[in-house]
Amino acid sequence: MAERLRVGILGATGTVGQRFIQMLERHPFFEVAWLAASDRSTGRSYEDAVRWKLDTAIPAAVRSLPLSPATPELAPSTVFAALDTDIARELEPQFAAAGCAVISNSSAFRMQEDVPLVIPEVNAAHLSLLELQSWRKESGGFIVTNPNCSAIGLVLALKPLADRFGIESIFVSTMQAISGAGYPGVPSLDILGNVVPFIRNEEEKMEAETMKLLGTLDGTSIRPYAARMSAHCNRVAVEDGHTEGVSIKLRTSATREQVLAAWSEFQPLAQHQLPTAPAQPVEFLAAEDRPQPRLDRMRGAGMASTVGRLRPCSLLDWKFTVLSHNTIRGAAGAALLNAEMLMQMGKLSGTRGARSATAAAAVSA
Ligand code: NAP
Repeated sequence: MAERLRVGILGATGTVGQRFIQMLERHPFFEVAWLAASDRSTGRSYEDAVRWKLDTAIPAAVRSLPLSPATPELAPSTVFAALDTDIARELEPQFAAAGCAVISNSSAFRMQEDVPLVIPEVNAAHLSLLELQSWRKESGGFIVTNPNCSAIGLVLALKPLADRFGIESIFVSTMQAISGAGYPGVPSLDILGNVVPFIRNEEEKMEAETMKLLGTLDGTSIRPYAARMSAHCNRVAVEDGHTEGVSIKLRTSATREQVLAAWSEFQPLAQHQLPTAPAQPVEFLAAEDRPQPRLDRMRGAGMASTVGRLRPCSLLDWKFTVLSHNTIRGAAGAALLNAEMLMQMGKLSGTRGARSATAAAAVSA
């Protein structure tokens, strides 16, 4: 294996942090060299600090890695961040100012004008915004974000339709998994046998992020996509996988065959050979009762947006169901794909990496 880029994970012990650890094991581009979480974890080995919740073993290479303080001094040049929004708002700029590429999952900077909010299959061109960031100009560091876990599956399904037919209106009602709330997340007595029809700020995020993702890079800013959208977000008693009921009105009419062709022919990364990119980003299932989270969330190794139940809508034009894995496609996998794209664009190298990797190795020795 060629020499890999040493990377760090901020929030390494959390729900998304654990997915990063899992997905980075044997990654061809990246090697986990530095971990950080809260003060509760600092100084402990990863195995000791984490409440590991995944169904694979903790990778041997990180089991005994120590949790460093969440400060940039000894961090490598590329850092994946899986922090709660308030903490991200404080810490991510410190890492960017110190010269790190921060590949963030949190919502703290997603809507900031000069911060790319990216799904590589949808709007990789928006990554050029990072060159406008003051951190980039001063230290070489930057922040790149991926969307909210319920926006990402939806936008993957919408993008091929927006490109071919245009979209005028979008109605979506979500059924979001408990793991989307992090750990320990929603109390079991609130969610068992229940549906909670409220997730704070989620509907606002979904609506705003969808328009930025589908928007057009206009010189130095993003012109949001011009569609009306209404989102209803609900928490349901499912472990992993967000399901969404969607209705859309198109700008020019399309037949069922044309909609299905738009989805199946959507392969914008086919030439890029990115290890985490699914071969079929939008996968249509013809069975009348699919997709279902338990059966379909791992399609495309958890990176596909699965669609099904395409049928005419008597209020708008078409309605269908979308499913995507919230901690893979909706979080760690999304950030990893962004990092792979940045790596291919030559944005993840730099002298800081060499210096810090040496320092980090000295600390963990
Ligand atoms: P989580 O399970 O609560 O994990 C939070 C992580 O942050 C833990 O590693 C925790 O470390 C660390 N942390 C807490 N306080 C800290 C501090 N003061 N300084 C440094 N680290 C600190 O949360 P999560 O679900 O992984 O979510 C992380 C971010 O990803 C959030 O912004 C969330 O909105 C976003 N996101 C989550 C999902 C999902 O499906 N879960 C999907 C998309 C985006 P300790 O273990 O030491 O406390």
